[in-house]
Amino acid sequence: MKFNTKLIHGNLKIDETGATNTPIYLSNAYAHNSAEKLEDIFSGRAVGYAYTRISNPTVISFERRMTSIEDGMVATSAASGMSAIYLAIMNTVQPGDEIVASSALYGGTYTLIRNLKSFGIKIKFLDEMNEKSLNEAITKDTKLVFTETMGNPKLDVLDIEPVSRICKINNIILIIDSTMTTPYLIKPLQYGADIVIHSTSKYINGTSNSIGGIIIDGGSSKYSNIKYNNFKPYIEKFGSMAFTAKLKDTVGRDIGSPLSPFNAFLNLTGLETLSLRMKEHCKNALVVAKYLDDNKKVSQVNYAGLKSSRYYNLIEKYYKNGAGGILTFRLGSKEKAFKFLNNLKLILNLTNIGDTKSIIIHPSSTICSNNTEEEKIQMGVYDDLLRLSVGIEDSEDIIEDIEQALKAV
Ligand SMILES: *Cc1c(COP(=O)(O)O)cnc(C)c1O
Repeated sequence: MKFNTKLIHGNLKIDETGATNTPIYLSNAYAHNSAEKLEDIFSGRAVGYAYTRISNPTVISFERRMTSIEDGMVATSAASGMSAIYLAIMNTVQPGDEIVASSALYGGTYTLIRNLKSFGIKIKFLDEMNEKSLNEAITKDTKLVFTETMGNPKLDVLDIEPVSRICKINNIILIIDSTMTTPYLIKPLQYGADIVIHSTSKYINGTSNSIGGIIIDGGSSKYSNIKYNNFKPYIEKFGSMAFTAKLKDTVGRDIGSPLSPFNAFLNLTGLETLSLRMKEHCKNALVVAKYLDDNKKVSQVNYAGLKSSRYYNLIEKYYKNGAGGILTFRLGSKEKAFKFLNNLKLILNLTNIGDTKSIIIHPSSTICSNNTEEEKIQMGVYDDLLRLSVGIEDSEDIIEDIEQALKAV
């Protein structure tokens, strides 16, 4: 199957009722008619359901669909993007290990990783994640590189091939958050990432009606390297499924943050139109970026799809379908940025991205308000910067709203 077909049919299993959508199984537990059967399910000898914190048919259906569209091996969902990131990192590292991460990460992820210092995990943030900086940063203790396909909100585009090559040479697990780009734009596993993460709350769900996250495991062979002794029993028993087997057996079970079956259903429904939506998001974002770039009141329009962007060559290299739906721009001062926000009529002022609706935020006073001034600069967040997640309305209406609000500035 090709991509658009997989969005709708990938790993679809129709049950005996013939229902074309996997029903929402709102049941915490599953009865079995023999003690032996339940024992086998618990031991992993038999496939089946025991308790929805561990697995649920609707949730599995969503995980299998995501596995299919990312060309992965197996996936584990979680209650939010943040819990997916936490689980994936804590499944990999132990005290004494080192994480090298991009400093332009989503604010919540930056703080999460920074806070791991109190668990005895060493952290290095890189302002630029590239071949040179990574080679200089890694040590024998580096077990994990964490980065995003496009930083949120810095919008720096990752040159994924050289980064994954270095991780391969040095046997370092590469985890990539692809929330901003989705598999419509890029499939990081194809370029050598070991694990892909999404906050499914954004483009995957598509209409902002449920929070969720997912970890897609590409089935890496790196865990058999001597430095991943924490994976040893799982490598022996589960081979290339070791990451997910360990996750389900340890931190996944311990933290207990499953995706709700109801949210899994909403995500499955939203996913079917991912390509249609992303195509419109990318098209509209380019139109809006060009409009803003031509306006004298606006400076530093950051959208990698503009030919003037320093990342344009990477868009040409990796992003054949478009440069995504998010852009940032600056208005000269916080006062002007606020005035602009307060005069918008259509575009909503809120913290989110990836909705069908156009949404905008002033990151410095909101999503990055927990970060220090120094961190904000590393993240490309300035006092006059606005982040716009361009929706799939008619672009003329989006531009008309921007135009009238700019008049007030
Ligand atoms: C929103 C977001 C997250 C966090 O996801 P939640 O579902 O809100 O917990 C992580 N990474 C990126 C890039 C995001 O945009």
